[in-house]
Amino acid sequence: TPPFDAPSAPAGRDGSVDWDAVRADFPLLLREVHGKPLIYFDNANTGQKPAPVIEAVDGFYRRQNANVSRAVHQLGTEATDAYEGTRGKLARFLNVRSDELVLCSGTTFALNLVAYSWALPRLKAGDTILVSRMEHHANIVPWQLIAERTGATVRVAEILEDGTLDLDALRRAMTSDVKLLALTHVSNVLGTVNPVREICREARKRGIVTVIDGSQAVPHRRVDIAAIGCDFYAFTGHKMCGPTGTGALWARREHLQAMPPFLGGGEMIKEVSFEKTVYNDPPHRFEAGTPNIAGFVGLGAAVDYLDRLGLDHVERREAELLAHLTEALQQIDGLRIFGTAPDKAAVVSFLIEGAHAHDLATLLDLEGVAIRSGQHCAHPLLQFYGVAATCRASPAFYNTHAEIDAFVAALRRVRTLLG
Ligand code: PLP
Repeated sequence: TPPFDAPSAPAGRDGSVDWDAVRADFPLLLREVHGKPLIYFDNANTGQKPAPVIEAVDGFYRRQNANVSRAVHQLGTEATDAYEGTRGKLARFLNVRSDELVLCSGTTFALNLVAYSWALPRLKAGDTILVSRMEHHANIVPWQLIAERTGATVRVAEILEDGTLDLDALRRAMTSDVKLLALTHVSNVLGTVNPVREICREARKRGIVTVIDGSQAVPHRRVDIAAIGCDFYAFTGHKMCGPTGTGALWARREHLQAMPPFLGGGEMIKEVSFEKTVYNDPPHRFEAGTPNIAGFVGLGAAVDYLDRLGLDHVERREAELLAHLTEALQQIDGLRIFGTAPDKAAVVSFLIEGAHAHDLATLLDLEGVAIRSGQHCAHPLLQFYGVAATCRASPAFYNTHAEIDAFVAALRRVRTLLG
């Protein structure tokens, strides 16, 4: 087997990319489902993994497996270097300091870490946590739990019909009682890209701490966290070509220094006695227990992969696929698309008149097409549109224009089956 240390098709100097060769880096895409070639359009849910990532995880277990930050033996040193190496790669990739990156299991953990270590000790009755209507439950429920415990209130920043934030309403909602604003960078249902930089600037002027959920942004465009100017930025590895159970929280150093540990155990301490335990410095203070070491080795390979491919290429490719998909879907009678923001990632939520979302997705599965149907962990957003479920097709850079045509043809076929 070739040494999978680079995508087989890095971008050419003229900016062209051999997308067929890139696609060939993803072994799973070769399989069939129900006797049909797989069309995987559920990337907003989780992404597929290129061979270098799979090889990195496999190689770690075959050659290096040991625990991190504990043993002085060679394997322990290599495992620690590999794990810490990923922290460094993520830091460069996102333009932040590596000692401000807490490695964790993903966005859900990262947001709960902010909730329990930053918000819980600080908020009190009379304080407000501002969240937007388009948040994933992972950026709603932790704040509700903190509100219940502290007496603070959760306020909703509403959206407009096209799926963009109502920026005037958001500004009006940033009153002096608001201590924290929790906002997604990119919506997992609508694809809306929020102007997080401008919003964080306004919040900062008012002394509001900002938490950005970058789950759907980091895989699809170049994210410069320093330029966004937020206080916290959470993201997940499995949507960016990395293994499940990996992700990180970036936080300003002054916040990390001031935050008590969230979980107690090994790694997060300097010294333990029954009289007094001294906690480790950030970021290790927040990394109790044995982490998903092999997963982070894989995530390091995923960062290398995306970096060499170039996020600019990824963004351009996905914009082309999105334009094709949107145009093709708009030709279908009775099809309604949710989310038509001018700045939009490749996520298309839709419904077809007279057809239930789950029925469409189930019949599409029999055609080899994987899309998601349901509420996409965003009940309040679907309540806004007054629908119980939608179908969601989310292509990634390794998908093809031919797959979009095949998907739309399959959708037309299954629609007729549903009358
Ligand atoms: N936030 C958004 C916008 C998401 O799309 C997701 C994933 O579905 C999450 C948070 C939760 O991520 P994870 O399940 O990896 O913790």
